[in-house]
Amino acid sequence: MFTASSPLDLRSDTVTRPTAAMRRAMADAEVGDDVLQDDPTTNRFETIVAERLGKDKALFFPSGTMANQAAIWVLSTPGTEIYVDAESHVVHSEVAGAAALCGVQVRPVRARGLVMTAADLVAHVRTPTADAPEASLVCMENTHNGAGGVVTPLDGLHAIRETAQQLGLPMHLDGARLWNAAAASGTPLEAFAACADTVMVSFSKGLGAPVGACLAGPADVITRARRVRKRFGGGMRQSGVLTAAAHHALTHHLDRLPEDHAAARLLAERVDGVGGAQVVAPQTNIVMIDLPEPSAAAVVARAAERGVRIGQWHPSRVRAVTHLDAPIEAVRPAADILAEVLAEVLA
Ligand SMILES: *Cc1c(COP(=O)(O)O)cnc(C)c1O
Repeated sequence: MFTASSPLDLRSDTVTRPTAAMRRAMADAEVGDDVLQDDPTTNRFETIVAERLGKDKALFFPSGTMANQAAIWVLSTPGTEIYVDAESHVVHSEVAGAAALCGVQVRPVRARGLVMTAADLVAHVRTPTADAPEASLVCMENTHNGAGGVVTPLDGLHAIRETAQQLGLPMHLDGARLWNAAAASGTPLEAFAACADTVMVSFSKGLGAPVGACLAGPADVITRARRVRKRFGGGMRQSGVLTAAAHHALTHHLDRLPEDHAAARLLAERVDGVGGAQVVAPQTNIVMIDLPEPSAAAVVARAAERGVRIGQWHPSRVRAVTHLDAPIEAVRPAADILAEVLAEVLA
């Protein structure tokens, strides 16, 4: 089975490696200079993604982080604040890009439940005064990684959109895992995407491409995003090598996401309650395991010794994520190992 030198890696759905077929698609891609908008593979792919999301245009980015930052740059105004879920990727994992690159202050919205609702947003709205800043943008994340791959259902997203509109604010949707939200809820991608001005989707998470994300939205916004992408250093030349991988991922790996969700449920059921650990019931492919004591480092280390790699989220929470390279037949024995480790460490 797994060993420390040949482990099952559940640290993230970003650890997948391009398959042989994906590498062939990359090698065979017809390419050109994308800064000159001359790469046929990328042009074709961006059109397909825009159609899938029901938006005018889509633009390929080397990373989801850069696409999020470009969206914030285009939609917000320097010297204002943006409303964003306190546990979001924008707040935790983008190295204060909103402040450093876009000149805006983040106003973290504390969710009373697992994810931010319209009522949570309203509770954080403040009227600009001589002291308090104006707001210029609302950002949402779906699925919500930090909450445990939680889906904000369509009506919840609609309510947030309405609140934003009443406030006169545009909305950006970080949909790095919008594919998973759609697969889990049955809601069409474009219905989710219609709730925001811009939407970012990632190809390097569950879909298994080596890199890449798209930002989709109205034509004028995406034209500006293209210029910002260049400013951020994200103008790419023969990017068709990358978009061929992303296209392959979209064509061949989208339909299998429910398998990841089933594997996550299996893992969750196996470890929930062991040694007092509590699992956030997974809706998609992320399993958050809350420990009764701050022993995440010990759990992670002990599991790695036995060939199962998981991540520490914070000192009393660990995270396991299922993906393309972690088939359910491998997750089943890994779940047994994890349960044994939890029982030992939490004894
Ligand atoms: C991974 C992720 C991103 C960033 O994507 P990268 O391509 O890794 O930069 C943004 N938002 C969420 C929710 C993510 O999980």
